Amino acid sequence: MTSTSRPLLNRRLAEFGTTIFAEMSALALSTGSINLGQGFPDTDGPEEVREAAVRALRDGRGNQYPPGPGVPELRTAIAAHQERRYGLSYDPDTEVLVTAGATEAIAATLLALLEPGDEVIAFEPYYDSYAASIAMAGGTRVPVTLRPHEGSFRLDLDELRAAVTDRTRLLLVNTPHNPTGTVLTRAELAAIAELAVERDLLVVTDEVYEHLVFDDSEHLPLATFPGMRERTVTIGSAGKTFSFTGWKVGWVTSTPGLVTAVRSAKQFLTYVASGPFQYAVAEALALPDSYFSAFREDMLAKRDLLAAGLTEAGFEVFRPAGTYFITTDIRPLGESDGFAFCRALPERAGVVAIPNAVFYDHREAGAPFVRFAFCKRAQVLEEAVKRLKSLAG
Ligand SMILES: *Cc1c(COP(=O)(O)O)cnc(C)c1O
Repeated sequence: MTSTSRPLLNRRLAEFGTTIFAEMSALALSTGSINLGQGFPDTDGPEEVREAAVRALRDGRGNQYPPGPGVPELRTAIAAHQERRYGLSYDPDTEVLVTAGATEAIAATLLALLEPGDEVIAFEPYYDSYAASIAMAGGTRVPVTLRPHEGSFRLDLDELRAAVTDRTRLLLVNTPHNPTGTVLTRAELAAIAELAVERDLLVVTDEVYEHLVFDDSEHLPLATFPGMRERTVTIGSAGKTFSFTGWKVGWVTSTPGLVTAVRSAKQFLTYVASGPFQYAVAEALALPDSYFSAFREDMLAKRDLLAAGLTEAGFEVFRPAGTYFITTDIRPLGESDGFAFCRALPERAGVVAIPNAVFYDHREAGAPFVRFAFCKRAQVLEEAVKRLKSLAG
């Protein structure tokens, strides 16, 4: 066989063609639809944070390769944030690593910690980069399905326990959870922690929506649970919290041993990234509580606007306790195939959404669910709601 007659994309990645987001965003453009598919805000974050980036750039801070672990100002700010919010103390020099967004943190962590054949348990539906990163690391993903229960998607703890085998290396947790909006409760997290300790598992926890938690829900980092700090890699990001998703500033907090391992992989992925933005995010993390509560209130109002509109349009709505996504069930509309529904929706109603099935291995389990993002301006959401109401007939 010549080198080009063999499939060019290797077997590990063969199942990951172009993402659904590319297809749906193209459809949004060609039909003039409102794009509630991909989760990025349509307004930038705080002006003072943007100005901080401009200042850093002008002052020549971060225009050349920043230090591999991240600039000291940002590492210190991350450690201070974890301490102030959660009482978790990390040494900025040995226990904090700055990455090119949470995406690189996830990839580097899995590339560093997995041997080929190691099993990784992840909640299904899962964020799309998890599957690809597990595959690139040669791991085997073992999905545990979150199922609808009394208005939200919940974890079946017995199913989780049963999924652990002698080959399980790590649990990949995401709370607040994209795409379902589930925020794991203290009891659920305690059970996960107990299981991790009992079976001696590493835990990677993606907490990029830590500041987007609504109503009575509370974000509790897994690292705060007994026996967890020493086995948990916590992943955060500035993108979602400060509405600068293009800056790609993320981070890892963990033990010196785990951080060193993750850095070993990270240094050969990007080495470093986002120089001037690192200084700006250091300032953003030190913003007063009023910024974080105003951001949450603003997103809460958007959630309520879109949730009410989707309900009126005939969807069953799973009101999210966190994140900026709403998962819906399309069966009350007489539909059952989320893929077909989302491909037709731009023509039918001028709105783009994402079929949750793409986040599942067990596609049939996710078939009737469709995700809408609400991190958009109120008038955009209002127009989307108006359009979607045409579905109700
Ligand atoms: C957006 C998102 C990420 C990626 O974050 P970046 O910092 O943009 O790389 C990771 N995990 C989840 C669950 C996300 O929604």
